[in-house]
Amino acid sequence: ARKYVVKNHFKGVPKREDYELVEFVIPPLIDGEVLVKAEWISVDPYLRAYNSYQAVPYDQFSYQVGVVVESKDSNYPVGTRVVAHKGWCDHYVFTPSTQPNTPKDRIYKLPDLQGLSPSLGVGAVGMPGATAYFGFLEICKPKAGETVVVTGAAGAVGSLVGQIAKIKGCRVIGFAGTDDKVKWLEEELGFDKAFNYKTVDVPAALKEAAPNGIDCYFDNVGGEISSQIISKMNVYGRVSVCGSISAYNEDLTKLPKATILQPSLVFNQIKVEGFLVWRWNDQSKAFAEIIPWIQSGKLKVKEHVTEGFDKLFDAFIGMLAGENYGKAVVKV
Ligand code: NDP
Repeated sequence: ARKYVVKNHFKGVPKREDYELVEFVIPPLIDGEVLVKAEWISVDPYLRAYNSYQAVPYDQFSYQVGVVVESKDSNYPVGTRVVAHKGWCDHYVFTPSTQPNTPKDRIYKLPDLQGLSPSLGVGAVGMPGATAYFGFLEICKPKAGETVVVTGAAGAVGSLVGQIAKIKGCRVIGFAGTDDKVKWLEEELGFDKAFNYKTVDVPAALKEAAPNGIDCYFDNVGGEISSQIISKMNVYGRVSVCGSISAYNEDLTKLPKATILQPSLVFNQIKVEGFLVWRWNDQSKAFAEIIPWIQSGKLKVKEHVTEGFDKLFDAFIGMLAGENYGKAVVKV
């Protein structure tokens, strides 16, 4: 079997030399064990962010969907599909009866996707889907008619947040990194307005698109643009701080840079809350809504599929550089 090991603390953008592809031998299974073969492996921004905090070397973590190919546990017969945080490996062995039950370490059977692609187990019906659903609905608590801004809007989480906001009757403004993504958000996903954050004047764009101010901000990117958006928020606005990809190529263990944001937080009585998706232990409630939304066409899911276990690194770098529309995933 094969797995990717991260050897270094990345300096800036991760480099191919920071990874080593390692072969390892899987011994014969003993009672209670199950052998899983990876089918879909996820590449996500937190793989970059968490590198600052890890002791090196470490096995590259991430979510994957796999299929049981050999089994000594009758609850997991051959052919069972499972979702696990087992990372960039093409096979792994686990013991269902002793598996930890924390949200991150849990290995669970892929929910019945009713004919949708199993790859959604690492996307809209997996960690990013739960992030969008809970992180937006439970922290922003949007009301119909309110104005919602989403950054990273064309990505896995952002594209879902914007569409969920539309389902809830909000006015939705998105920011993404190319004109073509902007077009996709407006024409295919139903965003009321979208902008290319690389070329637009953000305060002017907000003045035009949100004449009544902003009630909810779902922040995927952090940095300057977030300060500009937060400073345009209405009284009692809510900010869900999901990620800050604009800073992930920095050393996150160093002290953060200060921004002068506090006056607008105070005067407009804004609530800002960061979260980690692991907080919601039972995510089935999210998936019970997301699956029918997808099937009825209310929620459009797009995947950016890269083929081949050997292409994991390229897929990862491509996602960080913004190549993906929707969820970046590797078909093994
Ligand atoms: P995406 O699918 O959105 O992929 C990352 C995107 O980020 C790229 O496509 C790129 O799009 C954009 N990007 C890259 N660099 C920058 C930059 N400097 N400024 C602005 N945008 C940039 O990833 P996910 O949907 O998986 O994740 C989105 C965010 O949510 C991340 O910050 C991630 O860490 C966070 N997250 C947090 C979770 C939590 O529990 N809190 C759980 C899951 C995700 P573009 O072309 O628009 O630049």
